[in-house]
Amino acid sequence: MKPTSTPRSVDGEPTLFPTGVHDIRTRADLFLQDHDLQGAVREATTLKDQARRDALGEAFGNDVDKLRSIASEIKRHTIDHLDHYLDQWISNAQAAGTQVHLAIDAEEANRIVVEIAREKNAKLCVKSKSMVTEETHLVPQLQAAGVETVETDLGEFIIQIDDDAPSHIVMPMIHKDRKSVARAFERELGARYTEEPEELTRIAREHLREKYRQADLGISGGNFLVSESGSVVICTNEGNGRFCTSAPKTHIAVVGIEKVVPGFDDLSLLLHLLARSATGQPLTCYTQILTGPRRDGELDGPTEMHVVLVDAGRTRILADPEFRESLSCIRCGACLNACPVYRKATGHAYGSVYSGPIGAVITPLLQGLDKNPTLPEASSLCGACHEACPVAIDLPRMLVALRGRTRKRRGTLGERFGLTLLRWSFSSVFMYRISTGLQAFFMRCISGESDRLRSAPGPFSGWTRERDLVIPDRRSFRQRWRERGGSTR
Ligand code: SF4
Repeated sequence: MKPTSTPRSVDGEPTLFPTGVHDIRTRADLFLQDHDLQGAVREATTLKDQARRDALGEAFGNDVDKLRSIASEIKRHTIDHLDHYLDQWISNAQAAGTQVHLAIDAEEANRIVVEIAREKNAKLCVKSKSMVTEETHLVPQLQAAGVETVETDLGEFIIQIDDDAPSHIVMPMIHKDRKSVARAFERELGARYTEEPEELTRIAREHLREKYRQADLGISGGNFLVSESGSVVICTNEGNGRFCTSAPKTHIAVVGIEKVVPGFDDLSLLLHLLARSATGQPLTCYTQILTGPRRDGELDGPTEMHVVLVDAGRTRILADPEFRESLSCIRCGACLNACPVYRKATGHAYGSVYSGPIGAVITPLLQGLDKNPTLPEASSLCGACHEACPVAIDLPRMLVALRGRTRKRRGTLGERFGLTLLRWSFSSVFMYRISTGLQAFFMRCISGESDRLRSAPGPFSGWTRERDLVIPDRRSFRQRWRERGGSTR
């Protein structure tokens, strides 16, 4: 990976969560100037995207789409009956000895975790990777309460000591190179400068091993909640999740309410699809199924297990039939790897924990469209995200629907006029011919003799900022087709 000098902030705002109204176009402009960063992200996402295709093809051949629709049906059914499956999960988890807490928003989720930490007089917490705790900003809250909290996923650990922010759901440090990791380890851990990945991993492992031994609190997320048993399922590749959930006396899992699945048969299919879609592996290296704390006679595991179920806007999405489908996401990151906009703009441009196509949908839904009016525009609507999604979420449909809502609320007079013209031009074959003819005529007038328009005027200038527009031929496609003897029927 090449070095990157990507700016971490825009107008002094933290990269992760800009305050006020967030405009992805302004942020993307900054990141688009960093060609090294783009090269590194393009390389990593292309590799992962290919690995996903290969792994799914090898395992399931022509049945991939059939399995995707079964997985989609499982998630859709569960989301449609979320109250039932959540109730069932809660009673089974409580029967197994898990203490269950419900948090309506991020503040409440953080407060519950901090209170448990205080009650246990916790001084050191080891934490495995969890998107929902990124969403609630849990770590700063724990640190403010005097609990040293250490991220233990290697990528998240590097991000934490380098005071950076994750830029991908699955590969949080996709934007960083070995040199910046070496510098961070030398500066923060006092380690000898080395760019060797094995050596860097060894340094992190030694540092973290000591923390696991001393920690009195372990925090994790949860990839799935199995309703029929009350279990929390955690998928990791580094084994850090096991340390976090077994070494400390108290384990707290912070999980979004949409993570529930009915039973183990459903879980089995989703695990196969999750690992293959995320990293191209048949399964993640460590798949833990935790059902309650340590029982009498067991040698390891926490003596107390808590699960904080986080709503934070999810029931609002559940109540909206147009966007309910977005709750089916299993956070595999495949849509990010497949997305040409993510590859070019890179994760930090989205200004939120969730980037890429799924981030462009759920961030406005979770945080409010008024705060993120331009995020749904971060897509070419090519459909690659829909095709890559293991649970077949129709992201392009939702991106278009969100754009429609933004236009209704905030569209300028010019935009509304433009869209009305567009609608008018697509309303019949006759109108389409007239409008495309006029468009070609005006483009020829502006471009003179050239066959390309290099600089469009006024409000259209954005179209030619990154590329030239080709001047359409005087004859329509149908005319040319007829001239070649083709049938127009
Ligand atoms: S929307 Fe689909 S592809 Fe994207 S992260 Fe979620 S499950 Fe994966």
